[in-house]
Amino acid sequence: MPEVQPKTTAATGAASAASPTLPPASEGVVTQATLVRKAAPKSDYKPADVSPQRRVQRSYSVRLWSVRHSRFLEWFYARFADMFLMLHPLWKSIGYGRVEAPVKFVEKRVKGFMFDCRMCGQCILSSTGMSCPMNCPKQLRNGPCGGVRANGNCEVEPNMPCVWVKAWEGSRNMVHGDKILDIQKPVDQSLRETSAWLRVTAQAAAEREAAKAGASK
Ligand code: SF4
Repeated sequence: MPEVQPKTTAATGAASAASPTLPPASEGVVTQATLVRKAAPKSDYKPADVSPQRRVQRSYSVRLWSVRHSRFLEWFYARFADMFLMLHPLWKSIGYGRVEAPVKFVEKRVKGFMFDCRMCGQCILSSTGMSCPMNCPKQLRNGPCGGVRANGNCEVEPNMPCVWVKAWEGSRNMVHGDKILDIQKPVDQSLRETSAWLRVTAQAAAEREAAKAGASK
């Protein structure tokens, strides 16, 4: 096998004649990324000094905060649901149909910010560690598929943490975290873009009234 002689550069030639050194591996290599960057039109806008991957991951930061604080949110949601139920006579007198638009407007924005909610209308956050399962690209409602990566990220969106890995983590912080083991029904697509808050409230009010009627018989 022929002996491989180490290369020397003009800058280091004299010194390396006495003591030859290998050039850096990247020397003289022009990557595709460099070519693309050089060919890009010049403008005053320079993105913040973070990698594209970091920028993508930052878009999940609020959602991940909600999972980390699932216990507090579980407590808060229970109080919030009680307050909504207390207001049932008001919703009923105005008409659930009339209050739907403003309530949905608020619900969509608040839950969109906190959980990246997709307004499926059948909220199961309290059973999924405050991680919205509708963010799963396969929209699985009963646990992860078999494609979770070794780092816990999604196989379809490699930069996104698997919503079911996060759901399990969030559920471990919650008082009623074992609700994650309940089998969920398939999504009823006819309820998309409707208010889960109002639906849960109206159902709870109906159950309460039925219980009262049963007790008075
Ligand atoms: S489960 Fe449905 S309603 Fe609840 S946060 Fe996810 S998309 Fe929104």
